Amino acid sequence: MKGKVLVIGAGGVGTVVIYQMAAHPEVFKKIMIASRTKFRCDDIAKKIGDNRITTAQIDADNVPELVKLIKRFQPELVVNVALPYQDLTIMDACLEAGVNYLDTANYEPKDKAKFEYKYQWAYQEKFKKAGLTAILGCGFDPGVTSVFTAYALKHYFDEIHYLDIVDCNAGNHGKAFATNFNPEINIREITQKGKYWKDGKWIETEPQEIHKPLNYPEIGSKESYLLFHEELEALVKHNPTIKQARFWMTFGKEYLTHLRVIQDIGMAGIKPVNYNGMEIVPLQFLKAVLPNPGELGAHYTGQTSIGCRITGIKDGKKHTYYIYNNCDHHKAFTETGTQAVSYTTGTPAMIGAMMFMKGIWEKPGVYTTDEFDPDPFLEAMNKCGLPYNEKHDVDLEMDY
Ligand code: NDP
Repeated sequence: MKGKVLVIGAGGVGTVVIYQMAAHPEVFKKIMIASRTKFRCDDIAKKIGDNRITTAQIDADNVPELVKLIKRFQPELVVNVALPYQDLTIMDACLEAGVNYLDTANYEPKDKAKFEYKYQWAYQEKFKKAGLTAILGCGFDPGVTSVFTAYALKHYFDEIHYLDIVDCNAGNHGKAFATNFNPEINIREITQKGKYWKDGKWIETEPQEIHKPLNYPEIGSKESYLLFHEELEALVKHNPTIKQARFWMTFGKEYLTHLRVIQDIGMAGIKPVNYNGMEIVPLQFLKAVLPNPGELGAHYTGQTSIGCRITGIKDGKKHTYYIYNNCDHHKAFTETGTQAVSYTTGTPAMIGAMMFMKGIWEKPGVYTTDEFDPDPFLEAMNKCGLPYNEKHDVDLEMDY
């Protein structure tokens, strides 16, 4: 049967992926959700109450177990919304079982908090040879931000010179401290050194060293901090005309104070420590006591606003362009029971899967989302709860 998809990971993002797939029965005819803790899969299936959804337990670090499950269910595509640590084992299993692959975050080794595509780009020839497609980083950022950039280049620019990806969460969940997606992955991302592309090389900064207030549509001014984000690596590789590429994310003072204390007392550590004769990783223990990001939605108010601010040339003339989406936490909760960060990640993952299942985004090899046609993807975003907005020749508030 055509239209079978296996989703691995049953957190906040996995929940949205399943909700959105269930809403498109013409594309997704049979959906299996598998994860380490099976009751989470069962809970999602029960909430949606659709007999096209089945569940399974899986350890996604174990390739033979994965291959067995994939061969039993025989999907056309595996959607990985577990953790970045599982990317390579799931890609290996897909190759062995002969199925296609999609994820939302690039591989990170557990003992090194560093985003790099090199591990997954190394699979290029293997996927090509097998005639299989791997779509990498198909959430919002990475994911939609790269589609936005490709769309800008396709329709409005001959050359992109300056790219600033801006990610604002102006929501309030009412907790003293919580992360909006997996706390371990989120804290690893924010506490590492910043990095941006300028004139052909990477410039490294201290964590949160560079910051400035930026105005976000319908939100207003928010302090925005420069950090490194994985899509920058792919976008500067694929667009050699880019002179400068940066990524900005907003944080509140309270969030940064908690984060500093967490680091100062060693709770952000990723090296195992001995506790009562047992090895534990401080950051993994911290995750166990922090609020579950997938369950923040009930009292979350406010919006996210994520987009790309681009300067470049068209027909020899300089232009600026801002393309973005605003997503309301409460609206996301009403629709899927999760907050906007899970929603803005899970919805593009479903759309990427839909693009593949329809044969629109299908080419053997390993690709990031800027390497496919952006138009059908953005058209689907408008229909699936994530409409985009555009502003032409406006002040981008950028200093270059
Ligand atoms: P959660 O921690 O809420 O969910 C992760 C899920 O993966 C859990 O169900 C967990 O199981 C499962 N899992 C973890 N390890 C394994 C394993 N070895 N085998 C099987 N299942 C496993 O994370 P989120 O839903 O918040 O995030 C999911 C992914 O989305 C992450 O990779 C994150 O980096 C990415 N992301 C991407 C964004 C983007 O815009 N591109 C933005 C936000 C997130 P258990 O329940 O047992 O813990």
